[in-house]
Amino acid sequence: MKIAFIGLGNMGGGMAANLVKAGHEVNAFDLSEDALATAKQNGCATFTDAGEAVQGVDGVVTMLPNGGIVKSVYEGSVIGKAPAGAVLLDCSTIDVATAKEVIAKAEAAGYDMVDAPVSGGIAAANGGTLTFMVGGTEKAFGRAEEVLQAMGKAVIHAGDAGAGQTAKICNNMLLAISMIGTAEAMKMAEKLGLDPQKFYEISSQSSGYCWSLNAYTPMPGVGVESPADNDYKGGFATALMLKDLRLAMDSAQDVDATTVLGAKAAEIYEKLAEEHGALDFSSVIKTL
Ligand code: NAD
Repeated sequence: MKIAFIGLGNMGGGMAANLVKAGHEVNAFDLSEDALATAKQNGCATFTDAGEAVQGVDGVVTMLPNGGIVKSVYEGSVIGKAPAGAVLLDCSTIDVATAKEVIAKAEAAGYDMVDAPVSGGIAAANGGTLTFMVGGTEKAFGRAEEVLQAMGKAVIHAGDAGAGQTAKICNNMLLAISMIGTAEAMKMAEKLGLDPQKFYEISSQSSGYCWSLNAYTPMPGVGVESPADNDYKGGFATALMLKDLRLAMDSAQDVDATTVLGAKAAEIYEKLAEEHGALDFSSVIKTL
């Protein structure tokens, strides 16, 4: 397929390269000249105008920072400019309301479109092992799946338009809460005189079992190897977790959902991000 890729940053750069590796022809556009130069090295054709990049393509993939930018790119450069039969895929993490609004506009103009946010960081984007959670019609999902499979290890149809974003923010709210809970339990066990490794051995095989403890242990030298063992460098940045929690809180407000712990988690990550936005989100344990 011929695919336009817009937003070649930390995530999009590797994703576009994987589309090329899978045999697709990729038209790349980004506001950053450095990002375009890397895309060229990776085999993409580069453009200095998004509207030109989408000419004659079979599909458009976007990987952009936020909902406002996604909306302006689709309204200004994709809808009405990409060929009528093109399938549109927004892989950015944005709020549910904007995702639904942009998809409705694309559908009204005759396009099939999905929201397809990802789980997995830069390493998964580079390695083609992302998990995509996809919202949209059966038909749009069917068309998007082939494109997404070239960039990921799992592609899951979550439901109608916006369902991908819903899955993403609810998952990450749960992750934030469980990471804080894991950190609190580990620190308290330690303060009560229990060897943290013993606590890990017991709780990881008991009802405290959870991904944050078992697969991403937040205390250095305890449990499995994780960003904690690398001074909390790499992994999933606190600033990105905060972005997702803010989206979750906005959506919770929209639908009047009760998120007492989600709100507390957002508050805790807000504080952590003031000084340590670049550190992995498991560094929350250092604040306890
Ligand atoms: P990034 O800032 O590295 O990349 C965004 C790119 O978009 C930049 O290259 C920027 O120049 C470009 N851009 C901005 N406005 C543009 C416009 N109007 N037209 C064209 N290009 C434009 O961000 P990232 O880390 O690649 O994240 C992208 C998305 O993926 C975000 O929504 C983020 O929440 C999500 N995400 C990131 C991670 C991660 O670990 N980095 C993990 C999961 C999801």
